[in-house]
Amino acid sequence: VLPLVGADTTVPLTVPREGATSIAYANLDYAASAPALSAVADAVDRALPLYASVHRGAGYLSQVSTALYEQSRIAVGRFTGARDEDVVVITRNTTDSLNLLGGCVPGRVLVLDIEHHANLLPWQRHGADVLAARGTVAETLDALSEALAGAEYALVAVTGASNVTGEALPIAEVVQVSHGAGARVVVDAAQLAPHRPFSLAATGADYVAISGHKLYAPYGAGALVGRRDWLDAGTPYLAGGGAVTNVTAEETTWEPAPQRHEAGSPNVIGAIALGVACTQLEAVTAELAAHDTALRDRLVTGLEAIDGVAVLRLWPDSADPTAVVSFSLPGHDAGLVAAYLSAEHGVGVRDGRFCAHPLLAARELDAGLRASIGLGSTAEHVDRLVAGVAQYLSTGPQASYSVVNGRWQP
Ligand code: PMP
Repeated sequence: VLPLVGADTTVPLTVPREGATSIAYANLDYAASAPALSAVADAVDRALPLYASVHRGAGYLSQVSTALYEQSRIAVGRFTGARDEDVVVITRNTTDSLNLLGGCVPGRVLVLDIEHHANLLPWQRHGADVLAARGTVAETLDALSEALAGAEYALVAVTGASNVTGEALPIAEVVQVSHGAGARVVVDAAQLAPHRPFSLAATGADYVAISGHKLYAPYGAGALVGRRDWLDAGTPYLAGGGAVTNVTAEETTWEPAPQRHEAGSPNVIGAIALGVACTQLEAVTAELAAHDTALRDRLVTGLEAIDGVAVLRLWPDSADPTAVVSFSLPGHDAGLVAAYLSAEHGVGVRDGRFCAHPLLAARELDAGLRASIGLGSTAEHVDRLVAGVAQYLSTGPQASYSVVNGRWQP
């Protein structure tokens, strides 16, 4: 749908297969980081010769950089369905965004135990209550309602799509239940936004966090978008220049958000990349979702047809999961299978606990494999993974593998 940089990358087959020593890379690890859109790379190329200090410089290039930076803020706001009164804070990534919000929440936080550590540890630090997500979606929503009735919460932190299974609770319903109990909602959309449209206005959610490097922009820029009052009153995320209205030797008066939380010279190029990625993705949301769903279905059907493969689901009834699929081969080492898929098939997947230790522990898994799909993924990539897994189980690896520096290698 949108061209990517490096889409035709060839990788070595460390263990040659049918005489071939290299193969087109089947990147099935988009959930970790996605390659840049060509339009993003072009925008970065155009901006590199122009950038200068933002906000404080009077020179022409400072004015250009400031305009580009602020345009990105607007693009991010549009992409996340920000309301007029919402603020867009440019951050480094989702982790940064949620930690920033952590310094602004004026009360208790409730979070589910299926979250990525980025949406768990900032709240754990604030003494959050952690709710187990079990049973069906309806049962989990009931448990949420019950927990909210039992104490006064300021915030419910919830994923927009699990980084392990692509599943999520229906956000508008989480918002309804939470608002009914007087709690706001922050959505960790790190894994949702690359696959499906998300709108603060449409869902009623109060805050959303995203990462550029999962949205086809390079590393280093993300955003927190949402209600102004907490962000204006909260602890400035970093203490430093650009976030203040006045400083004396004794005390500091802080700017309101977003400047309050953007101390130091910002990542202008990263913000430009993020803004362009948001604008590009916004234009193809329907195609993106269709591609994602078709390949997810192909992948899940392929994996479930193999005896000895277990596909991980959080809820039997969650609707419209994204193309992030984790699975295990009970009795086999996930790290070894992942190394084999790379060395012998040119397939890149992730293995381990996916920064979601409580989720895996609750399902008695010490490690899994995760395949995740993005714009450059094809049916051939999915089929190659499925065939590789089947072959691993039937004939085993061609080479012998050993652990070097903590990773399996042929
Ligand atoms: N939340 C989810 C659901 C994620 O998948 C990730 C990244 N794996 C994060 C948060 C953290 O994103 P980042 O590393 O960009 O801060």
